[in-house]
Amino acid sequence: MSQFDLTGRVALVTGGNGGIGLGMARGLAAAGAALMIAGRNAAKNEDAVAELSALGARCQSMEIDVADEAACRAMAGLVAERFGRLDILINNAGIARRRRPEAMSIADWNAVLATNLTAALVAAQGAYPVMKAAGGGKIINIGSMYSIFGAPYISAYAASKGAIVQLTKSLAAAWAEDKIQVNAILPGWIDTDMTRPARTGSEEFNASVIARTPAGRWGQPTDFAGPAVFLASPASDFVTGASIVVDGGYSITG
Ligand code: NDP
Repeated sequence: MSQFDLTGRVALVTGGNGGIGLGMARGLAAAGAALMIAGRNAAKNEDAVAELSALGARCQSMEIDVADEAACRAMAGLVAERFGRLDILINNAGIARRRRPEAMSIADWNAVLATNLTAALVAAQGAYPVMKAAGGGKIINIGSMYSIFGAPYISAYAASKGAIVQLTKSLAAAWAEDKIQVNAILPGWIDTDMTRPARTGSEEFNASVIARTPAGRWGQPTDFAGPAVFLASPASDFVTGASIVVDGGYSITG
């Protein structure tokens, strides 16, 4: 359907070399977009480029730590230089540091906030003039169930993911007049490298996630292809500032 067609569009996906980011990148590629994958690990970047290129997408990668403010700010301009435009920015790169709040060092706190929250603002600041000059764009930020809930071991992560929802609303309000829509996706429990230790380390935890999720399973990176295409395409042009849960129903149970 043409409303979901991304032919000729260019997307930058941070953390697009694995997990949820690669799941979204695959969806954008299938819808016709060209892709820039941004991640720290060069080998993972290369593998992702090979996979997405095999799907027929024009694709490149950049080795970058999004917590490096100058590099993060420059990303969008580099994409525009190499591909001629930038239509879609997905702020997906994320890390977690599991510590109780009383044991949370400020170094860990700052690392989580820098990657999960500050980088999203900085990348968006870099993308704004490019998108504004082109007459519009799409920014998608990745939150979490911890955008909604708290937990003893996850204070910095939850703070960053709660704040990303409010950042999303503020960017959406500021840039709607420039035809830039800014939305968030809040994943439930998804089978990726980030969750693998918890999932495989405790059968009780694994079973509790499945029991609480009405869909009866962990999410997979492929579950994010459709929501990403929707939020990246003209189909969502009147959707802005929204946070869409993609969680198999986890957040509607208690
Ligand atoms: P992964 O660990 O599989 O992916 C994280 C990605 O982020 C990797 O591609 C990694 O690439 C990249 N990344 C991390 N730090 C940086 C950095 N400083 N600079 C550039 N890239 C970075 O985890 P997920 O796919 O699960 O996570 C993706 C997003 O989804 C995160 O924001 C996460 O918080 C969120 N999320 C995940 C959930 C889950 O259940 N899995 C649930 C809710 C939210 P590289 O290693 O090359 O740096």
